[in-house]
Amino acid sequence: DGTKMSMHAMINRAILAVDTIRGRYGRYMAYYDKKIWEKQVYEQEILNCMEDAIDKEQFKVYFQPKYDLNSEKVAGAEALVRWVHPEKGFMNPAEFIPLFETNGFITELDKFVWDKTCEYIEEWKRKGYPVVPISVNVSRTDIYNPDFMDIIMGIIKKHGLEPENIHLEITETAYTENPQQIIEVVKKLKLLGFIIEMDDFGSGYSSLNMLNELPIDILKLDMGFVQGDLSTNSNNILSFIISLAKWMDYAVVAEGIETEEQIQMLRNMDCNFVQGYYFAKPLPPEEFEKHLIEHSILNNDMEGLEMNFSDATFRKSPGTMLIVDDLVLNRKILSASFSRYFKTVEKENGAEALEYIKDHADEIDVIMLDLVMPVMDGFTLMKQLKMENKYAHIPIIVTSQGGDKSVEKSFALGATDFVEKPYNPRIIMHRVQNVVMAYKNARSEAAATNEKNDSVS
Ligand code: C2E
Ligand code: MG
Ligand code: MG
Repeated sequence: DGTKMSMHAMINRAILAVDTIRGRYGRYMAYYDKKIWEKQVYEQEILNCMEDAIDKEQFKVYFQPKYDLNSEKVAGAEALVRWVHPEKGFMNPAEFIPLFETNGFITELDKFVWDKTCEYIEEWKRKGYPVVPISVNVSRTDIYNPDFMDIIMGIIKKHGLEPENIHLEITETAYTENPQQIIEVVKKLKLLGFIIEMDDFGSGYSSLNMLNELPIDILKLDMGFVQGDLSTNSNNILSFIISLAKWMDYAVVAEGIETEEQIQMLRNMDCNFVQGYYFAKPLPPEEFEKHLIEHSILNNDMEGLEMNFSDATFRKSPGTMLIVDDLVLNRKILSASFSRYFKTVEKENGAEALEYIKDHADEIDVIMLDLVMPVMDGFTLMKQLKMENKYAHIPIIVTSQGGDKSVEKSFALGATDFVEKPYNPRIIMHRVQNVVMAYKNARSEAAATNEKNDSVS
């Protein structure tokens, strides 16, 4: 009954109705009806109680594990918000996030989610759990906030953490809306040490060309890729995108994995990580903790596999394993696996590694070297080392995405061995053992010969 309604209210209702056919004006007519009215009331109710909900701790942070496909271990998790409303009950983000994105409240909510997430990480670390990096979602509104960088760094410091403990998920459509500004902000975030994941890749329209220029580390494929009909054609596209991403040195996460069949397919395509109901739903923190404790990729167990160094002196004073990789997780996986046998030292690019090698050449038993890194890549580091004879006694195991060219080039530049990513823990263990033993034996033989020569002369 619009008889006594103000002009203002009528126009508002007309606008709301027109909104329902946005972009399709030519073909449709819109009416303001009960459905729109109910939606309006619902939204108003949400707006009335959202501020209160933060104070009353009605928002809960859930964690959904990301599994490494190769080892089937937990390599990360995504923090996802839930609203436990006293009257409306348990609400998923789809019911309120879009609303918060239009009215700006998302900035407040995200701050809360990041803070809670860091609080949990801090607690897990204190309890000594093998904590993997946790991703948080960053809304496009957050990125345009000039205080964004200060806010997130402040939260991280408050909990005694480092940026590398957190991954930031930024949705693909944010990049396509305003590429220049986003790219600027994301570059700064990367410099601070955050790992950047592009969320929902394939749902928007980023060109493959643009992908090359984006400062990201991980590509998170949109659910649509695996959930649709897996006919050969979409299958080929998926396979192509995964290879392309890996060629550009992005790790790949597939989302929405629900079946064994999808797992099998992604494994064949060499996808790195999966997130989905098949392994685990988003879980309350206490439940997620169990996955972390029992299945963390950083758990220091090699499933009964022991390295066997026949050299008795080896274990008494462990040498150094120098791990050179720009991705923290890659470094941590190696560190966790080998810290029983070596003093592990991590460097994130060739230049930093070279500095370290100059001062510690005698202590290094083996170098684990990634190829593609910013500042100085693995090939360049090998070239530098090859020029100096004094580094010839240090074996280098290249750990990288395969491809004939990179294997061949690595060996030509003096690599001792090549292990393909993603790591298979058993294989890498054997390779390290063989390489280190061979070099140790060669060195002690050389030393013995020198001694003999010395005593003869
Ligand atoms: P997203 O970042 O793409 O998160 C993945 C969504 O997929 C989550 O929905 C998750 O529960 C769901 N999912 C995971 N595995 C499966 C599966 O096997 N099958 C199916 N069908 N779904 C699966 P959720 O939690 O409802 O979140 C929806 C979206 O809301 C998120 O999409 C994200 O964009 C946004 N969101 C959630 N929490 C936050 C937050 O704290 N801040 C911001 N800014 N956005 C958030
Ligand atoms: Mg996400
Ligand atoms: Mg997503």
